[in-house]
Amino acid sequence: MRFETKAIHVGQDPDPSTGAVVVPIYQTSTYAQEDAGVHKGHEYTRTSNPTRDALQQCLAALEGGSFGLAFGSGLGAITTVLTMFAAGDHVICGDDVYGGTFRLFDKVFRHLGLEFTYVDTSKPEAVRAALRPRTKLVWMETPTNPLLKISDIAALAAITREAKILLAVDNTFMSPALQRPLELGADIVMHSTTKYIGGHSDVVGGFLAVSDPDLHTRLKFLQNAVGAVPGPFDSWLTLRGLKTLAVRIAAHERNATAIAAWLASHPEVEGVLHPSLASHPGHEIQKRQASGFGGVMSVRVRGGLEAARRVCRSTRFFFLAESLGGVESLIEHPAIMTHASIPPETRAALGITDNLIRLSVGIEHLDDLQEDLDRALRARP
Ligand SMILES: *Cc1c(COP(=O)(O)O)cnc(C)c1O
Repeated sequence: MRFETKAIHVGQDPDPSTGAVVVPIYQTSTYAQEDAGVHKGHEYTRTSNPTRDALQQCLAALEGGSFGLAFGSGLGAITTVLTMFAAGDHVICGDDVYGGTFRLFDKVFRHLGLEFTYVDTSKPEAVRAALRPRTKLVWMETPTNPLLKISDIAALAAITREAKILLAVDNTFMSPALQRPLELGADIVMHSTTKYIGGHSDVVGGFLAVSDPDLHTRLKFLQNAVGAVPGPFDSWLTLRGLKTLAVRIAAHERNATAIAAWLASHPEVEGVLHPSLASHPGHEIQKRQASGFGGVMSVRVRGGLEAARRVCRSTRFFFLAESLGGVESLIEHPAIMTHASIPPETRAALGITDNLIRLSVGIEHLDDLQEDLDRALRARP
């Protein structure tokens, strides 16, 4: 079965009792048992729910994994992974990960005794150099957010395999339509399904895909024990979004590559960060490990903070909002919005400058999006 077919058929056979072609929303917390301990496979919805099962099977198949686990948010999924470890264990994390991931590691798990080292995962030697006897996990994103740095998943997997530790890849920016880290040697793939998977900016959710049965058993235990699970309706909305992932991603991809190339020569733009550009340092790795470049890009505008703020409030079709990956285009200012929790010195060292804006290019008509950006970039106070 090919990707587009899996998205519509895996885990989604017609309902055996009614023939409904859409998996129903099993909006129930519990399940009647015929006799004590005798049931039809479900006991309590935190543990399992048929709507959530369908989502888990389908998205795991799209990631090329054997098992999937759905969560109430991306951060719920990450939290559950981190509860595999004990105080004194060490985690190597990318230095340019999602702001909420950094906040969770630095403000929550560090206080519980886990130790973190932040490294530039686009340099595999830096990851190797950070290994310690109690290192248990490497956590990475590629492309990163908002600087769109590319890391070589297979090269990092070779290091973690040799060290007998886990490699987890946050695949939110690519989605399995463009990149499948398990096939490149990662042990855990994580998603904020809030973004491209759901795709319509109407539901928050998270996901983990794995292929190792023991790792699945451990994480499934923790999914139930920690309890950061999605409700049946949220699972259903996410599954509904997933069905059109391939066609949506193709449209995001067409618009984003055209806009990146056009912005790169725009007089009001200093630079564009998008892996589709041949000038991007990760361009070749991206072409090797993914089948596209994604719909998110960052742009350094001429004129500093004031100019960047003006562009953000002057667009009409690009809504000024956090998040990404929905059908509608979004624009945001990382230093003030999504990455405000990162200390200013760290932001400056990373390159999250005050003139940097991030675009999530939607699936509207390309000409409307270009006209909108052009008008906003040329707006004067
Ligand atoms: C949004 C996001 C998260 C967090 O997911 P939530 O669903 O908001 O909890 C994690 N990683 C990346 C790359 C994200 O974009």
